Amino acid sequence: MPANSAGHISITGVSKYYGRQKALDNVSLEVKPGSVTVILGPSGSGKSTLLRTINHLERVDEGFIQIDGDYIGYRREGDRLYELKEKAILRQRVNVGYVFQSFNLFPHLTVLENIIEAPIAHRLLSRKAAIARAHKLLDRVGLRDKADAWSRHLSGGQQQRIAIARALALNPRVMLFDEPTSALDPELVGEVLDVIKDLARSGTTLVVVTHEIGFAREVADRVVFMVDGRIVEEGSSEAVLNHPQHPRTRQFLSKVLA
Ligand code: ADP
Repeated sequence: MPANSAGHISITGVSKYYGRQKALDNVSLEVKPGSVTVILGPSGSGKSTLLRTINHLERVDEGFIQIDGDYIGYRREGDRLYELKEKAILRQRVNVGYVFQSFNLFPHLTVLENIIEAPIAHRLLSRKAAIARAHKLLDRVGLRDKADAWSRHLSGGQQQRIAIARALALNPRVMLFDEPTSALDPELVGEVLDVIKDLARSGTTLVVVTHEIGFAREVADRVVFMVDGRIVEEGSSEAVLNHPQHPRTRQFLSKVLA
């Protein structure tokens, strides 16, 4: 599929419970191919849970999610959805990169080994091709000279840029970022946001949970605001950030922008 026609995420009536707690309450959202969507909301509003359902790190209890028409985590037979086997779920996840707050690199591997591991394990690339691609990705995240470094010796900002390169090594159609800068010292936040901004121009569909309003203003095509497991407001970044309609959005923005 050519760039910009792949990576359409369609979320339809998704609810998710933890015991009796409703973490997601009938969430529907369309994310256009190649677009950047920022999810905002107070702590505990379901942002991370929503992101995790998009690559089936969490099961959904109601509704469904599709990427380019494929059901995520399930296959459909007639009117029923059946959960996929682990192997098929892992195969689907190749299309959906996930960057965690806490980097999650393999500490016992070098930077290069971290990046080439998945494409080789999934038999997407030969070792030689994976290494060539890893060097290109390191260049892209501004860490060309770190290929042979141990990941645990790098700064948090560098580790997060490596984590992004590692996710990109599978050439995903969609990249999900779960508060990618909130574990970083303030002076390291900018270098990670710059890499994500660069990615935003590349045609990969991005969904980013973050509290960085400046980033949302500059980069997001759409801003989604969540409260209590529901999307209460959604629109262009201009509309949601400059002219919020919902009282909870106004309250939240007045606090974070204060
Ligand atoms: P956010 O990312 O907006 O902070 P989360 O998606 O992490 O919100 O959490 C939404 C709600 O679900 C919260 O009330 C949280 O306590 C609950 N929750 C999240 N993960 C779990 C879990 N693994 N087990 C039980 N409750 C959870």
